Amino acid sequence: MTIYNLGSINIDRFYALPHLPEPGETLSALRHSVGLGGKGMNQSVAAARAGAKVNHIGAIGKADDWVRERIESYGVNCQFLRALDSSTGHAIIYVDGEGENTIVIDAGTNAQQDYESVLRALDGAASNDTLLLQNETNLQPDAATFARAKGMRVIYSAAPFSVDAVKALVSDVSMVAMNAIEAGQLCDEMGLTLEQIPVPEVLVTLGSKGAMWRSNETGEVIEVSSPKVTAVDTTAAGDTFAGYFAAGLDLGMSVQKSMEWATQAAALKVTRHGTADAIPSAAEVAAFSS
Ligand code: ADP
Repeated sequence: MTIYNLGSINIDRFYALPHLPEPGETLSALRHSVGLGGKGMNQSVAAARAGAKVNHIGAIGKADDWVRERIESYGVNCQFLRALDSSTGHAIIYVDGEGENTIVIDAGTNAQQDYESVLRALDGAASNDTLLLQNETNLQPDAATFARAKGMRVIYSAAPFSVDAVKALVSDVSMVAMNAIEAGQLCDEMGLTLEQIPVPEVLVTLGSKGAMWRSNETGEVIEVSSPKVTAVDTTAAGDTFAGYFAAGLDLGMSVQKSMEWATQAAALKVTRHGTADAIPSAAEVAAFSS
């Protein structure tokens, strides 16, 4: 089976700074590094490193061929990646000595998905394939409607949180995935409890505590706890979880087993610095769990 992912691709530029800059201040960076990121790409890399077949649907700037090469090096299929005459989405990430950060994102090509191209990519999908969506591109509602009409599983990460995006998508997806903060925002802003969200399944990640899944159709609840680790960088933890969880289901594992696998992978990720480039492979996760 195949996981399709209509998702963002960012060039992450990290600047280690003595402190976060004040308005008007010019600061010299202590270190600078460039990596692959974006919520969408993090999830595609996680699912591919888990061993799933992943077709990423997205767009980058023509000048950034290295981005395509990096994505392919992680085993993600780039057949549905368009190269456009504008700049690839990017994130400027300032990190101070305490690990506190400030992030500025420019959506760039992520907001320039093309309707015909997205539907053409999904047209080849089978009913037992999966579609992943997040809130960092355009055209998610069109993709969800098309995929659900085919009978595909659609897993929607409601992040970065936007109540309008959730309202536009929730009735057309199989599962909404969120962290605890996003789940609180969704319930507050929609005036609903988790049980009342009009979606078949809800997944809430709970940081160092683990994660919770609920079927809103049967009322079944599954909870898993996280292994204890020393966290050095929790960015992309939720995306690592989402990618491994989707891969688990795609590879035929139960919800419980998929959650346990995702919890191990995400715990290993938080012991490493970085985003997509720091997501562990299935072999690394197996060695970590044993
Ligand atoms: P997000 O990264 O989207 O904010 P969470 O903070 O809930 O989401 O983290 C996602 C998953 O990553 C958690 O469900 C857990 O499996 C793992 N995780 C996050 N922080 C830690 C931690 N400190 N120790 C172990 N696992 C963690």
